[in-house]
Amino acid sequence: MFIDSICIVGGGSAGWMTAATFSKIFPEKKITLIDSADLPPIGVGESTTQFIRDWMKFIDLKDEDWMNDCDATYKYSVRFENFNKPSVPFHYPFIADINGFNLEEKNASQWFIHQAITGESVDGFAEWFCPQMKAIHENRIITKNFDRFDHYADTAFHFDATKLARWLKENRCQTVEHIRTNIVSHKKRKDGSIEYIRDDNNVKYYADLFVDCTGFRSLLINGFMNTGWDKFDNMLPNDSAWAVRLPYTNKREEMKTYTNCTALKTGWVWRVCLQNRMGTGYNYSTKFISDEDALAEFKEHLGDVEPLCEFRNIKFKTGLSQKPWNKNVLAMGLSGGFIEPLESNGLLSIHDWLMKACQIIGQGHVTAIDIASYNKDVRARFTAFAEFVFMHYGMSARNDTPYWKYLTEEFEAFSMEKFDLEQWTINGYNGIIYIMAGHNWNPFNPVTVKVLESQNRLRTDAYIELSDYRQYDELIESFPYAVDYYES
Ligand SMILES: Cc1cc2nc3c(=O)[nH]c(=O)nc-3n(C[C@H](O)[C@H](O)[C@H](O)COP(=O)(O)OP(=O)(O)OC[C@H]3O[C@@H](n4cnc5c(N)ncnc54)[C@H](O)[C@@H]3O)c2cc1C
Repeated sequence: MFIDSICIVGGGSAGWMTAATFSKIFPEKKITLIDSADLPPIGVGESTTQFIRDWMKFIDLKDEDWMNDCDATYKYSVRFENFNKPSVPFHYPFIADINGFNLEEKNASQWFIHQAITGESVDGFAEWFCPQMKAIHENRIITKNFDRFDHYADTAFHFDATKLARWLKENRCQTVEHIRTNIVSHKKRKDGSIEYIRDDNNVKYYADLFVDCTGFRSLLINGFMNTGWDKFDNMLPNDSAWAVRLPYTNKREEMKTYTNCTALKTGWVWRVCLQNRMGTGYNYSTKFISDEDALAEFKEHLGDVEPLCEFRNIKFKTGLSQKPWNKNVLAMGLSGGFIEPLESNGLLSIHDWLMKACQIIGQGHVTAIDIASYNKDVRARFTAFAEFVFMHYGMSARNDTPYWKYLTEEFEAFSMEKFDLEQWTINGYNGIIYIMAGHNWNPFNPVTVKVLESQNRLRTDAYIELSDYRQYDELIESFPYAVDYYES
């Protein structure tokens, strides 16, 4: 297949991110984006991971280009509250340099070994390991790199999703033709690929490649191509959310530099801070609570605050397309897969899949084996991320409600594994370390240490002292508070 023309269907975050990327990387190709005035984008998805930086670099997007127009703020961490018992909040800060976990060297693993031997908790790992934690606790913007903290690699963003989609359209999609209409049908070629799609005025749209960005409707990849879908709903039962926007009432206190996730009885609540408002939502499972009761629980959690808009109920399905790229249809965004909002994986997978697809399209001729490799690769990474998200629940000790009991005791984990010692020593750094430490799960205990010693796999003299970041106190105290930084 040669791809000279690309037709994107859908004008949410996935659609405009796809259009901006293809427009930048393939300026010579004919690109069309079709969306429907009757079907608004989902309007959530305002928190990102540090990996968004890779995509931004790929399309040459600089912070100063877009952040203020999209009310964006920097995000340094994810904070989890009530995910465990007893409830000790913990952070998953971004830091690229984790210094290795090889057992034979002096590094972070030695701290876990030390805590295991002395019987001490590991839930303070983020504070022990990350020099930037004081700045995070104090809601300061880190304006200078120090120690191992790197502003470029170790920050993500919160932003207004609607504004960013509009910004990309207006500023990065000059080669893209935008058409507003409803796609209703299609015609296939003999080989099963799509020849054209058709709108409700009977106008046909031809392209070499069709990109399905129609969100949970999955009009092309599921509707037209009838591609199978692997569900994640036994592992990740959340299927609904109540979302709302909140005003700041005390910006100095409320404006955090992390995404806050608070577990409730049947799910968890996200809260993100933009320059002008906050976004929050309760993500829950209707297998365990009704929409009405979830709304009541959410309102009680929010307390006495007047929202900026109506509470919006969002239904979602978790899972992954069996072929995110099927013939000449490429699924991007919610149409291709969704894990659940925890750990901001929606936008992450869009960027991941886009960069991978660009590499293949950039070859010129796309073969069946390219498509098969793409599917294998993106599916493996997506599934691994889904398991990572599940670990946030599965490692918990909560069993105080039917929802938590299901996730921690009753769920059939099939072949899923805890992050074990071998993975630890072989694979080294993984974000899961923050999560398991936050849940106070240490892969080492006095018995494993004894086993490792018998196998001569351990340096017993390697313990490194608790890191002392007090030397940075003065520097960190010179960093502006988030509220002042954005107001200036
Ligand atoms: C509750 C919730 C919270 C989330 N939070 C996060 C988060 O914090 N971070 C994160 O990274 N991700 C998050 N996500 C995921 C994120 O919202 C999505 O990945 C992202 O918004 C992309 O959505 P989309 O563009 O695929 O779909 P949508 O935004 O739903 O867009 C679909 C588009 O398709 C068009 N369309 C549909 N049918 C037709 C048709 N027949 N003809 C023409 N056009 C059509 C519509 O007009 C619309 O423009 C969250 C998701 C949910 C459900």
